Amino acid sequence: MEYIKESFTTKVVDSYDVIVVGGGPAGIGTAITAGRKGLKTLIIERYGFFGGTWTASLVNPFFDYANKDGLVKEITTELALHGNFGAFWGKSYNFEAMKNMLDTKMREAGVKILFHTYFSDVIKEDGRVTGVIVQNKGGRMAFKAKYVVDATGDGDVSVAAGADYIFGNEKDGSAQAMTTMFLISNPKFRQSEPDELYELMKKACDTYNTGYNIDFDKPYVIWLPLDGYAVVQLVHIRNKNGTDPFELSEAELEGRDKVYETFNFFKKYIPEFKDSDLIMTAPQIGVRETRHILGDYYITVNDLVSGAEFEDNLGFKVSFNVDIHDDNFAQSCKSVVPYQIPLRALLPKGVNGLLTVGRCISGDFYAHASYRVTGDCVAMGEGAATAIAKAIKENKDIREIKKVF
Ligand SMILES: Cc1cc2nc3c(=O)[nH]c(=O)nc-3n(C[C@H](O)[C@H](O)[C@H](O)COP(=O)(O)OP(=O)(O)OC[C@H]3O[C@@H](n4cnc5c(N)ncnc54)[C@H](O)[C@@H]3O)c2cc1C
Repeated sequence: MEYIKESFTTKVVDSYDVIVVGGGPAGIGTAITAGRKGLKTLIIERYGFFGGTWTASLVNPFFDYANKDGLVKEITTELALHGNFGAFWGKSYNFEAMKNMLDTKMREAGVKILFHTYFSDVIKEDGRVTGVIVQNKGGRMAFKAKYVVDATGDGDVSVAAGADYIFGNEKDGSAQAMTTMFLISNPKFRQSEPDELYELMKKACDTYNTGYNIDFDKPYVIWLPLDGYAVVQLVHIRNKNGTDPFELSEAELEGRDKVYETFNFFKKYIPEFKDSDLIMTAPQIGVRETRHILGDYYITVNDLVSGAEFEDNLGFKVSFNVDIHDDNFAQSCKSVVPYQIPLRALLPKGVNGLLTVGRCISGDFYAHASYRVTGDCVAMGEGAATAIAKAIKENKDIREIKKVF
């Protein structure tokens, strides 16, 4: 293997109280809350819009929102007010309305927004993370901060900071399937009940020589609160590593191939799709699981089944069941007793100045399969920002904060 050695001199553009890397559900929860609390906040996002899987991967509906106050309630209530929330199971949303709302809330919270910017590295001084280095159209730039929050989903910042992690399932390193979501118009059923789409697909394959291989038995047509439009959750890509850029590229290509094949199968063999059109595939394949960054606390399936509570909880409970997109796990641990997430699960072991939020926090395979949904990711972000604000106000390190709420 050949290596080259690089050396850079990078300009420090500005300093902040908080830098949030990643503008998905967890990142927006963190940044909007931090901004509202008067913290000088910068958010860095590789795309030109907020929302992460909500908007980039066409993920729907909004799970685990109903037992939440704060930003989750605010977002869902405001979406509903304008007819942009509801259609599927009472909880699907309009992507564009979500984008627009997040732009507005972020600006109103006074957060400095840096789109089209990729995280490159951390700045570390005396063993503490004190900022980030990024790459964008302007070249390489550095920003300093009292706290950096890793909301990249994959734990990119934490890995650069030297944090330990487990990839996927701690037993064998496998991760949940990725999915290429796609947007269609006019399927001829208003709401896809469990099994309805699967039964239609099976019937088509039993009746005709379709050559189509059904490899997932819980496909959904998810109606949007947009007349005539739905997203389809069905095209799974397995055994690819979402943090390996070559494998991720293959997954994108395979995912789109499979969407085109699937949609042609729908059109040709399932009458309910005869008048339907494929409007778009998601800009980014949905990656369910990659790294779990190991923190001061490791959430386990025992916490889920016992309804664990913690003194340093983040002010909400996760009530979403364990959802693993793999038939081998269909029978294992499905339901949880609503449980809390401790601040310690957001603090990468042995690393100061850095928090994780969202799907990359510290927990096992089953726990991740529950707390990864978007309502819980937003709420984690709010909790993280509240803890940071408290630490800064009380002039303490975040590890000295034993009670957040
Ligand atoms: C196919 C699929 C279906 C799902 N279905 C549902 C569902 O129906 N309901 C539900 O509630 N949840 C669902 N989930 C789970 C949920 O969408 C995710 O777990 C959740 O979005 C994670 O939030 P996050 O903020 O941690 O990460 P993400 O949503 O992935 O956001 C991470 C953000 O960071 C940015 N980013 C990443 N790396 C960098 C970098 N290096 N530099 C700069 N920016 C970066 C990304 O562009 C993105 O905006 C689904 C997930 C998938 C993949």
